[in-house]
Amino acid sequence: MSATRSLVVASNNAGKLREFRELLEPLAWEVTSQAEHGISAVEETGLTFVENALLKARAACLGSGLPALADDSGLAVTALGGAPGIYSARYSGAQGDDRISNDRANNDKLLKALADVPEGQRGAHYHCVLVYMRHAEDPVPIIVQGSWPGEILSLPRGEGGFGYDPLFWVPEQGLSVAELSSELKNRISHRGRALAALLEQLER
Ligand code: IMP
Repeated sequence: MSATRSLVVASNNAGKLREFRELLEPLAWEVTSQAEHGISAVEETGLTFVENALLKARAACLGSGLPALADDSGLAVTALGGAPGIYSARYSGAQGDDRISNDRANNDKLLKALADVPEGQRGAHYHCVLVYMRHAEDPVPIIVQGSWPGEILSLPRGEGGFGYDPLFWVPEQGLSVAELSSELKNRISHRGRALAALLEQLER
């Protein structure tokens, strides 16, 4: 892979940005955030992860003149009919600048919604759709997706990761995502799996 490839990550989410940097910089990608290009968040008006990721990628290409990588992701809980889904970031309604308190409010709402759901019926998936757009009028953006199955805990565990990670239990590891090393999370997560698929397509 060339050492001069640059892309802008179409996100203001510090957790996602950190994970993309950890994954892409060792592969000689120069990664910038949309904030570094003065690009503000677009309104996510789509009804699917794919639609929202396309909107974000196009705005980042337009604002930066660079190829853009957009991630639209979220948590789908089976007992809640797939909620919070595309609304994961704004599930509790809190959308202030303080992401830690937004995450806490989302996690509290999720625990309340599942209060009467017993162990064994608390299955969930993280989903991640990635769009790689070469320029704002790219007619064939690369679109890939990754999923990660788990279960929702009754109490938060661990300090790492972001978002719903303290509540997302990974049975194969016997740990919550917030208890995994970032290296392991990046390797096996919905985002890590989607990015591996994207890099494979870019290499071709
Ligand atoms: P988006 O920025 O609109 O794609 O919203 C993504 C939201 O989904 C985040 O704010 C989190 O609430 C949740 N989410 C996505 N990926 C993860 C993850 O890896 N860990 C924890 N929460 C995640």
